[in-house]
Amino acid sequence: MPEKIDIHGVMIDNVTMEEALDKVLSMLEGQTPQKIFTPNSEIIMQATRDPELRDILNSAELIVPDGAGVILASRIMKNELKEKVSGIDLVRQIFANTKKRPASFFILGGKPGVAEKASVNIVYDYPKAKIKGYRNGYFDESEVPEIIKQINESRAEILLVGLGAPKQEKWIHRYANELNCKILMGIGGSIDVFAGTAKLAPEFMRRAGLEWLYRLIKEPKRAKRMLDLPRFILLTLKKTMADRKN
Ligand code: UDP
Repeated sequence: MPEKIDIHGVMIDNVTMEEALDKVLSMLEGQTPQKIFTPNSEIIMQATRDPELRDILNSAELIVPDGAGVILASRIMKNELKEKVSGIDLVRQIFANTKKRPASFFILGGKPGVAEKASVNIVYDYPKAKIKGYRNGYFDESEVPEIIKQINESRAEILLVGLGAPKQEKWIHRYANELNCKILMGIGGSIDVFAGTAKLAPEFMRRAGLEWLYRLIKEPKRAKRMLDLPRFILLTLKKTMADRKN
């Protein structure tokens, strides 16, 4: 088992992308649903205020560091994570690996029409990725039994859930026992990226750890929520200084 690193109460697996993919492949050989979460610094800050969310995150079989902020925090705390393993990059690796090990997927989330668009693009790029079904992420609680039935009847191995955080983590945790998939993975806004309705930051910005800046420019209404980013770094510095004093 890979070592875990504690980032403000969230126990992140210290894995490289390759190790994360190996773990996903071994999950595909299992029978009971296993959870994958990909917290970034905003979600970790939310988890510091919401113990239920923290426990849900920690209950996942694989929890990878999504974003430069999480890596920076581990560095400041002198317990460095090996590398950033963002949710979207991990999903791409899983799709690409279907060349070697075909796999089937159900996509849940996004506005009406978006999951369908994403499915078309995914199958075009990765012909061995079988999309067994999709559904938009705007539904009422009363529709959940029907959605679960649709997912189970599709017999998809991997359920990709993009309802935004923390909704998707709570949804996956709540219904895990009723779902027959092998892997349940929270993927945030990735469905929009696969559909082409949202863009990732350019590669040079992602490499420089500036994906947050790109997002802020594209979606200024996220500014308030993004205050969690500087808060996250401040909390890290405060804790590190307190630890050094003791
Ligand atoms: N979404 C959804 N149902 C909801 C709320 C959101 O399907 O009730 C989708 C939304 O359309 C978008 C994704 O969830 O595709 C949220 O993306 P965001 O970039 O906000 O993800 P986060 O940063 O929260 O992970």
